[in-house]
Amino acid sequence: MPGLTHWQSPKYMAFFPCNSSFPGMLGEMYSGAFNAAAFNWICSPAVTELETVVMDWVAKLLNLPECYLSAGEGGGIIQGTASEVVVTAVVAARERILRRRYGHLPEGEEKMDMMAVARGKLVALGSEHAHSSTQKAAMIAGTRYRSVPAPQSTNFAVTASALRHTISELQAKGLEPFYFTATLGSTATCAIDALSDIADLAKEYPDLWIHVDAAYAGSALVCPEYQHLCPPLAAFDSFNFNMHKWLLVNFDCSAFFIKRRRDLTDTYTLTPTYLRNEFTDQGLVTDYRDWQIPLGRRFRSLKVWFVLRTYGVKGLRAFLRKHITLGESFHALVESRKDIFTVVTGPAFGLTTFHVNPPPPATPSSPSVPANRPDPRHGAYANDFTQDAEARYREDANQVTKAVFERVNSEGEFFLTPTVVSGIYIIRVVSATLNAEEKWLKRVFDVLVKAAEEITKAKEG
Ligand code: PLP
Repeated sequence: MPGLTHWQSPKYMAFFPCNSSFPGMLGEMYSGAFNAAAFNWICSPAVTELETVVMDWVAKLLNLPECYLSAGEGGGIIQGTASEVVVTAVVAARERILRRRYGHLPEGEEKMDMMAVARGKLVALGSEHAHSSTQKAAMIAGTRYRSVPAPQSTNFAVTASALRHTISELQAKGLEPFYFTATLGSTATCAIDALSDIADLAKEYPDLWIHVDAAYAGSALVCPEYQHLCPPLAAFDSFNFNMHKWLLVNFDCSAFFIKRRRDLTDTYTLTPTYLRNEFTDQGLVTDYRDWQIPLGRRFRSLKVWFVLRTYGVKGLRAFLRKHITLGESFHALVESRKDIFTVVTGPAFGLTTFHVNPPPPATPSSPSVPANRPDPRHGAYANDFTQDAEARYREDANQVTKAVFERVNSEGEFFLTPTVVSGIYIIRVVSATLNAEEKWLKRVFDVLVKAAEEITKAKEG
């Protein structure tokens, strides 16, 4: 079909996947057919009740800490996208800190003025590799935004010391960091911020709302071999992952878990007369409208129910592990041609990132190879690998990698995405699309090798 990208094609290896399934599609169709705006429990009790049940199932499936289950003070709610989750969390975090600082004061102009000044000093934080949704959420919430460095030396992850340093710098300027997005699986490289260390640090900053954005990689927590990442989540305030990315639930479905649902309801509960009813008034029921920004809600839990009941735990684990294994074999292929490529990150959750090695410069300064450089052609750039040579190498590598990427994408057989991390232009290959197969990963590798060889040869010539 013209004008449509086929996200379900096995040759789609770009961004992250948006996997579909027959049960997911059926759930979506039923939801569409019921067509209700179900904002209050009383609108359609089944819509609320099923959502609570399936979100508890999902929390248990991922082995999330118990604080995220509805039986305690927490619970899960389905939102459309991770970006909606993040803005919901940022606004709730802003209101929570203002309540904590000024909630005890009598209502009036004076309190409003003090809160307006305080609001202008609030700073939301995220890794320099956090998805842009955090910065967008800060913009929507009218707060400042500051990124926390996450260099190549830490594998593009935020460390607790980098976070502490940024917080201290801001506090020294009289500003108030109130929110941090920790990323579990960054968009560029699937980096994971140092969750355990950040969980320790969280104890020192009880007013800092820490949200974990695991939009893509969170699905891997279905597999026990990834669940060691879960315990630190107990120290944070909220967590989300997109079931529409890697868990076979048709778009859209972002699972949002909150440790203390009151952190949401204290912000979002406004009950005009037309929304009042005896069940809400008696505090007997959950009204999900009080956990979110919009009023109306879709019956998204149906598609989660359909998918979980169809695939089961074993089926979902097998689905995810297949992609992780494919990612490992693609990574091995890239490693097997160190003369052409340098792996930058991965394999991580089916994602490998790499750059193309540039041809040696016309007038090499020395033939020796610096020991710590994986690319044998590096040696041609400098004897001692001075900053100048490093910069020259980077510029040439970026140029040739971009040219290879553009050649492969313009040929139209495969769809990949590039990005830039710490000045390094990288090509990303994701092996987690629904119909991914070894033969297509081998084929895309051959296509990349051919393009890289031709382009570097032309440059050499
Ligand atoms: N967070 C991460 C880590 C992502 O990779 C993405 C998108 O790929 C998002 C958030 C935004 O997702 P959404 O389209 O659900 O807002």
